[in-house]
Amino acid sequence: MYEKYWQQMGDKTTVVIPGWQYMSYFSDISNICWFLEPEFAKQVVRLHKVVGNAVTDGRHIVVGTGSSQLYLAALFALSPSDASEPISVVSQAPYYSSYPSMTDCLKSGLYKWAGEAQNFSKEGPYIELVTSPNNPDGTARHSVVNRNKGILLHDLAYYWPQYTPISSPADHELMLFTVSKSTGHAGMRIGWAIVKDKEVAKRMTKFVELNTIGVSKDSQIRAAKVLKAVSDPYEHVDDSEVGETFFDFSYHSMAERWKLLREAVEHSGMFSLPKFPPAFCTFFNQVSEPRPAFAWLKCENDIEDCETFLRGHKILTRGGKHFGVGPMYVRVSMLDRDENFIRFVKRLSTIRV
Ligand code: PMP
Repeated sequence: MYEKYWQQMGDKTTVVIPGWQYMSYFSDISNICWFLEPEFAKQVVRLHKVVGNAVTDGRHIVVGTGSSQLYLAALFALSPSDASEPISVVSQAPYYSSYPSMTDCLKSGLYKWAGEAQNFSKEGPYIELVTSPNNPDGTARHSVVNRNKGILLHDLAYYWPQYTPISSPADHELMLFTVSKSTGHAGMRIGWAIVKDKEVAKRMTKFVELNTIGVSKDSQIRAAKVLKAVSDPYEHVDDSEVGETFFDFSYHSMAERWKLLREAVEHSGMFSLPKFPPAFCTFFNQVSEPRPAFAWLKCENDIEDCETFLRGHKILTRGGKHFGVGPMYVRVSMLDRDENFIRFVKRLSTIRV
C-alpha cells in the first residue's frame, strides 16, 4: 500500500553499495549490539523523536532480522535460565496468530505458550505479550494479568500515527518495532528492540549472534535511508523538494480505506466492525479515531464460520480460531495495494443473506 508513496519519492531512498563495502561481520564493537549499524541506530532514535512514540534516551537498541527474530531473542533473554520448567508465555485473545507457533516451534525448555492471558492463574513467573495497537483487532492494549513476577514484552509494531493516535512516548522495559508496518518495507526484514535493561540487551544480542551472527548490513543501510527520508521533511532538511510527508500520505490512505470499508459493511448488512474511541494524537495535534492495519470483521446473521463463508465469495481472510477466539470473526488486511483493496470492498458490499 505504501509502494505508491515510495515511488513518488523517486531516488530519495535509492541505495548503491559497492562490492567492497559492508564486508565485515562487525559494525560497532563498542556497542552491546556489535552488529548494529550506527547510521541505522541514529535514524531509529531520530524517527522516534520526530514521532514521539517511544522513549529512547538511555535505552539499548538491538537490531533484528524483522521483529520476528527479536521476538524469539526476547523470549530467550527474558526466560530464567535455571528454572525447573519452561516459563509460561501468555497474551490476551485475540492475539497475533504467529505467537503460539513461534513460541512452541522448537519445543524450548526455556519458555512455553500458555495461551489466553485472561484465564492465566498459574503461580510464579510468566511472560505477558502486550501488542498495542493489537493485531488482529486494532485495540489499544495494556497488560491484563497484573501480578507481580510478570515480565512484560511490548510489541509496538503498529504504534505509528497512521494507525492510531499517539498518546505519549511509550516507555516500557522491552519494546519491539519493525519497518514492515511503519514504512511498509516488510521485505527488508529489519526490526528493532528498545531495551531498558543492559543484561537483557546483552542476551538478546547473544541470541541473534547464535542464530544468524548479526543482521544484514545492506538491509540496515537501506532501512536507515528510508527512515531518514521519513524524518527529513519534519525537520526541514532539504526544504526545496518536500512533497507530501509519509505520515500524511499513510494517515489519509488509511482513513480513506476505513471509510470505504465501513460503507461496504453498512451496505451489505451482513457484518460488523469494532468501534474505536477517538483520542488526541500528539503527532498530528488533533483528535482522531484509530485506523488499524487489520479489520476484525464479525459475520452476523448466524453465520458460524466466517472464513469459509467469505471464501465462498472470493474473499480470503484468516479465521478467528488462529487468534484464540471463535470462527465468527475473521481478520482482513487493510494494507494491500489499491486495486485489491477496492476489489475487496466491492465484493464485500454486495454480499447479501
Ligand atoms: N508483531 C506483530 C504484531 C505483527 O503483526 C508482525 C507482522 N505481521 C510482526 C510482529 C512481525 O513483523 P516483522 O516483519 O518485523 O518480522
